Amino acid sequence: MAKISVIGSGFSGLSAACFAAKAGNDVTVYEKNSAIGGRARSFSEQGFMFDMGPSWYWMPDIFESFFSEFGKKASDYYNLVQLEPGFQIIFGKDDVLPLPASMNGIEEVFEAIEKGSAVKLRKFLAEGKYKYNVGMKHLVNTPSYSWLEFAKPDVIKGVFRLDVFRSVKSHVADHFTDPRLRALMEFPVLFLGAMPDNIPALYSLMNYAAISLGTWYPMGGMVKIVEGMQQLATSLGVKFRTNAAVDQVMVEGGKISGLHVNGAKESTDGLIASGDYNHVEQRLLPAQYRNYPAKYWDDKTFAPSCLIFYIGVNKKVKKLIHHNLFFDTSLDVHSKEIYENLSWPSDPLFYVCAPSKTDPHVAPEGMENLFILIPVATGLKDTPDVREEYYQKVMKRMELLCDDTIADHVVYKKSYCVNDFVNDYNAFKGNAYGLANTLRQTAVLKPTLRNKKIKNMFYAGQLTVPGPGVPPALISGRLAAEELIKNI
Ligand SMILES: Cc1cc2nc3c(=O)[nH]c(=O)nc-3n(C[C@H](O)[C@H](O)[C@H](O)COP(=O)(O)OP(=O)(O)OC[C@H]3O[C@@H](n4cnc5c(N)ncnc54)[C@H](O)[C@@H]3O)c2cc1C
Repeated sequence: MAKISVIGSGFSGLSAACFAAKAGNDVTVYEKNSAIGGRARSFSEQGFMFDMGPSWYWMPDIFESFFSEFGKKASDYYNLVQLEPGFQIIFGKDDVLPLPASMNGIEEVFEAIEKGSAVKLRKFLAEGKYKYNVGMKHLVNTPSYSWLEFAKPDVIKGVFRLDVFRSVKSHVADHFTDPRLRALMEFPVLFLGAMPDNIPALYSLMNYAAISLGTWYPMGGMVKIVEGMQQLATSLGVKFRTNAAVDQVMVEGGKISGLHVNGAKESTDGLIASGDYNHVEQRLLPAQYRNYPAKYWDDKTFAPSCLIFYIGVNKKVKKLIHHNLFFDTSLDVHSKEIYENLSWPSDPLFYVCAPSKTDPHVAPEGMENLFILIPVATGLKDTPDVREEYYQKVMKRMELLCDDTIADHVVYKKSYCVNDFVNDYNAFKGNAYGLANTLRQTAVLKPTLRNKKIKNMFYAGQLTVPGPGVPPALISGRLAAEELIKNI
């Protein structure tokens, strides 16, 4: 039985730990924070429960496939409900576009806005389904050491249908004219941390995921997934060490021999590093064993960081539903500020999650727990004054667009931004979602899963393959565990 250490207890670390333990190893997860879950931790204050990070449960098939590897189902751990509508986009006070759960409902919404668009949507989603099936079967399920791994009959046969050489933006523009439909169809790829004009149309598979597979919610919050995975891991014998910051990785004879955890040495036969890749390489590993120099990271395009407000409101906000996108300002201007100018946004789009609309247990009766998220560039100077300025800005807009008084009813408020991502997760430049999934940062072109100089060390998580998001993190953990097991 080999001793395997996992740095980090986010989704990728939890997944890696489960797979490594299932293969018969003695697995310990080291987590620097006091709670497990990484970016998906939660906290409770004054009767309000807040998921700190992910809030969208998309691709339920990937979660099912994870649990099925262990003879389990997601429903063994949490109760999943489908949201109806899945989400709404607020373009103006009287201009709101809800996305119904059923295909008939969605087609009616499209037809009402643009005649003939329902047929185009069907075609768009059929292509998205093809990309999703090939992509999720072949493209993400490989360690991506070489392009040859993708030379599978399905991929070769359908290479043009996979649409890697044009952007999502132009693909959407070929089908829809109305700016609101275009915004709706471009929105799902924002999850991949890149703009629709800079991301291959292959990723319209995200539309299939968002529109056809539906938007779901685990009752009790996203943290229920973390708790379920922890329960599964524990049943497989995984040990969890919290408040356990790894401060050094020890290499002897070209192999990882141990870790320094809060200054004490722990021996190990193999390592899966699921904490921020840059931090592990630049801070924990001796220079000669790093895959990449510091400059490599400076040249990468990062997905945005974000400014978040966790808000408790002592009344119900009528116009909000579970997921609300405030798209009443320009996405193009906001994206330039994130990716080109790297500056605080002038008039940002923002997102508000109100899980209390679905779940009575996450806020006191008659109240709301709101999560407000503004995407911002990585590496910004983050001060209390700037945070407050944006709080006032988005609160005013939310009040105006919801036609409601909210600020006066706020009874709990906490902010979270770049500095917190750095302090809590050792996140490079305070990134929230890892690297942007642009064509030049896809698959083989991402920071690699393996340490090229140390046989028994692999990386997992949102900075390596397949990329950012909860479903990719589950897959990344599995790939890293499978590769390590072959190499110890
Ligand atoms: C605000 C926000 C909203 C998001 N929304 C969604 C969403 O709605 N849907 C979706 O699918 N995805 C979403 N994502 C993305 C998704 O949450 C992440 O991609 C995923 O959770 C990353 O998991 P991970 O395991 O790679 O990293 P992490 O969750 O960051 O886990 C890494 C862990 O390593 C620990 N660590 C770091 N250094 C050390 C060290 N030296 N010693 C010990 N431990 C260490 C960290 O504390 C952390 O717990 C969101 C992310 C954020 C931040």
